[in-house]
Amino acid sequence: MSADRVLQADVGIVGAGPAGMAAANVLAAAGLRVVVLDEGHRAGGQIFRQLPVGSHNAGAIAEPPSHHHGHALLATFDQSRVTLRCGASVWDARPGRLWFEQDGASWLLRCRHIVLAPGAYDRCIPFPGWTLPGVLTAGALQVMVRGFGIVPGKRAIVAGSGPLLLPTVTALLSAGVHVVAALEASSRWRALRALPGVLGNGARLSEAFWYARQLLKAGVRLRWGWTIFGCEGDGRVQRAIIGKVDRSGRPRRETAQTVDVDVVGAGFGLVPSIELGLHLGCTSRWHEGGAGHALVVDAEQRTSVENVFAAGEICGIGGAEVAMAEGHLAAHAVLHAVRGTAVPVAVRKKARRERGAADAMLRAFAPLPGLHELAQADTVVCRCEDVTLATAQAAAALYGSSLRAIKVGCRAGMGPCQARICGPSLQALAGREPTRAMDLPVVQVPLKAVRSETIVNAPPA
Ligand SMILES: Cc1cc2nc3c(=O)[nH]c(=O)nc-3n(C[C@H](O)[C@H](O)[C@H](O)COP(=O)(O)OP(=O)(O)OC[C@H]3O[C@@H](n4cnc5c(N)ncnc54)[C@H](O)[C@@H]3O)c2cc1C
Repeated sequence: MSADRVLQADVGIVGAGPAGMAAANVLAAAGLRVVVLDEGHRAGGQIFRQLPVGSHNAGAIAEPPSHHHGHALLATFDQSRVTLRCGASVWDARPGRLWFEQDGASWLLRCRHIVLAPGAYDRCIPFPGWTLPGVLTAGALQVMVRGFGIVPGKRAIVAGSGPLLLPTVTALLSAGVHVVAALEASSRWRALRALPGVLGNGARLSEAFWYARQLLKAGVRLRWGWTIFGCEGDGRVQRAIIGKVDRSGRPRRETAQTVDVDVVGAGFGLVPSIELGLHLGCTSRWHEGGAGHALVVDAEQRTSVENVFAAGEICGIGGAEVAMAEGHLAAHAVLHAVRGTAVPVAVRKKARRERGAADAMLRAFAPLPGLHELAQADTVVCRCEDVTLATAQAAAALYGSSLRAIKVGCRAGMGPCQARICGPSLQALAGREPTRAMDLPVVQVPLKAVRSETIVNAPPA
């Protein structure tokens, strides 16, 4: 029975975002058998997200210039000979093998080469009231609006740090939501550090102008050096308390003011989704600017594990242009391994150039350590296990401030999200060491929430 659920391919790709699609297009054009697995309902990944077939957005979503590349990429991908499996969650892997669940059934993909392109997830920094209904991460708001056509409310505030705030504002505006304010915790001067990287990159520059124009047109002011201090409401968010922060992100409580809203988007950047890579044994590194762990790849996207390649956000947060360039490069590196063809110098150079510009941006918007002072003693820091800041701090004081010690001490990070939500800020909060490099996440199978039947019925390797 389980033999029916085994697929064979030359290359298995995890993720149908810009990185995975770019790699798949090159490999399929070269005649290789390619299977792409993605847990989403359609190809596109986070940035080129498509609505489910048959559903419609409330209004036309305004698109920045970079999305033209996305349309071209998707069109080539749709016409290619790639086998795309949507709704397919990869929950276990080893070199040459990917186990996934699709439509409740347990599947195995046998493939000689693997390209990892699973993207990233939102970084959460807890503040009082962040668990109230109506308070969402910036990414989740975009998924609601652009991925499902849902209008999340009438009056919104978007707060956090980094380039993802701007697409969140434009998505909300397109859906007819009144955006009261957009709050960027970084100061304008700190953000200017990204300028050399942006000025040398025409695409990023025109993207920045496009967003500036959209905000201006809608009368939304981007307030630098401001953030959200907390949210209040009876059963759901009704008010946001906002105010200024100092240069390290510490709240200046004397500046607090209250704004009536029914939606809050909080986005403090992204964290690379490296669990699959770690489980495969790939080497990772702490990325200071990005304040997260990323997979280590060589100049042609090879990881430390033979026949496993990686591209896009898993190698460090960078955005769609980096993801596409690295996806191309990874595909050429696979072709080199299979057929001995040389990796084109231009492809290598483009990936390096895009990554350089992205790193400059990442440094300028690195998470400010003082933002970890937003949470109060009774603020829930792990929402799966309902652990407050005071409990997490008591556990760290008793057992030590390693991620494992905090987990064992108070169960924070042991719930269904497996520390994807609380993990990146848990040590900074519980151990009161906001500038330390966080420990590597502990990864265990299943890497995604799947049915126990899927694990029991997994086809043998
Ligand atoms: C929620 C969210 C919204 C974003 N919105 C924007 C935006 O509007 N503008 C912008 O410039 N940038 C946005 N970004 C940043 C975005 O990550 C990059 O710009 C770009 O999409 C990265 O491309 P990628 O191919 O590396 O990853 P992604 O585009 O994230 O694609 C990764 C894909 O892998 C799939 N996947 C992950 N793990 C598994 C698994 N175990 N099994 C199966 N499939 C898996 C995911 O479903 C996803 O489709 C967003 C990021 C997030 C997290």
